[in-house]
Amino acid sequence: MSRVQKTIKDLFYISVADDYRDELSTTISQTNIDRVVLFSRIFVFWELAMIIFSWLFKGRDLFVQPGIYYFAMYLVLLVAASASAIMFNGMKKNIDQHVRGIQAVTIIFSISILSWCAGISLLDQISYGQIVIYIGAIISLAVIPLFQPYILLLIYTLVQAAFILLISLFQPSGNIVFGNIANSTLILILAVVISRMRFKDCVSIFENGKKLEQKSQELETVNKELKQANEKLKLLSQRDGLTHIFNRSMFDKSMKLEWRSCRKNRLPLSLIMVDIDFFKSLNDSFGHQIGDHCLQQVADVLVFCANRSRDVVSRYGGDEFAVILPQTDQDGAMTIANKLRENVSKLVISGIDSQACQSITISIGVCCVVPSENSSSEDLIKNADQALYEAKKIRNSIHFQSIDVIDVNVI
Ligand code: GH3
Ligand code: MG
Repeated sequence: MSRVQKTIKDLFYISVADDYRDELSTTISQTNIDRVVLFSRIFVFWELAMIIFSWLFKGRDLFVQPGIYYFAMYLVLLVAASASAIMFNGMKKNIDQHVRGIQAVTIIFSISILSWCAGISLLDQISYGQIVIYIGAIISLAVIPLFQPYILLLIYTLVQAAFILLISLFQPSGNIVFGNIANSTLILILAVVISRMRFKDCVSIFENGKKLEQKSQELETVNKELKQANEKLKLLSQRDGLTHIFNRSMFDKSMKLEWRSCRKNRLPLSLIMVDIDFFKSLNDSFGHQIGDHCLQQVADVLVFCANRSRDVVSRYGGDEFAVILPQTDQDGAMTIANKLRENVSKLVISGIDSQACQSITISIGVCCVVPSENSSSEDLIKNADQALYEAKKIRNSIHFQSIDVIDVNVI
């Protein structure tokens, strides 16, 4: 394609990206059909009014030339506009299926209206010499519907050619004929330029909207991924990597939270500290892998036994675990502690020669308190730790220690 051809094409054809072409055509058809229906209704209303007023004010003169021609023109537009309003209203319901049809009828509608207005202006030559209705129609076509510039140019050229051919039949003055042709042609050129600007703006607004939509969708996906990654990260930051139960930092947080909650509601709060017996020698005898596996198995038992929704099972460090039991009194905590010891003793750790090794045992320290202003969560931890220390003296045992009264109670 030569440069001149390309320039002409760019002038009269606004290109649209392939991705959006169909959607844009549908959107434009929607806009055009809505406007055509609206203007058809206005024309129906106006032509009815014109027929009634002409009838009232002109009386018998209505049927004398040129009144009869005007009357005929009003009737033609009334019938055509009524038919258009009904037909286009039906098409509005299924725009997607009628895009091509709507484009065609919008063009036919525009040619008809422009021709009708040119016809009225030709009739006006007999008595006024004005072309105001035709000029109005030219401008209206540039600002109301949306057309590719070449389509509007075709519509204008077709009607303007007929107008130029016929005007001298209605207007005897050569000067007025020249003036009217010059004026209408100038307005017509300006109208094509205005219409082209509108169409170009419409395409770029649509394309920018689509790009924005695409970007916001991408952003939404990234946000979703980020949210998932954050949740994963949060979970990882709360859990112990080996046993997947809560880590020490979650223990600290949960302890503070449950302390406050139980203090507010004057409910007991229990803490169980657990340490595996002779774990170092198990590691030394069977290797760290078996040791790790053992830690996981013990953690699973703790989770299994302390299974109320608010119980918090965590790895306190090394082979030591902590179980927070909110709203649980001394008896309840001791029941859980016994259950833990019993279930751990039943554990079978694969890789350990059961003949050569005794079953895994744990020592447990228990402390229970109704939190108040006179004590702190640190006291609870310290006393549970102290109880564990006492239990360790015997091993495979449970020791309870209250916060103020040292209650030696070895099982
Ligand atoms: P006690 O009966 O007095 O508790 O004796 P113990 O051998 O269990 O002694 P202690 O509780 O002090 O032993 C802690 C050992 O736990 C030390 C270390 O070898 C082991 N350990 C700590 N963390 C891990 C771990 O993540 N994996 C493995 N396999 N072993 C660990
Ligand atoms: Mg130990």
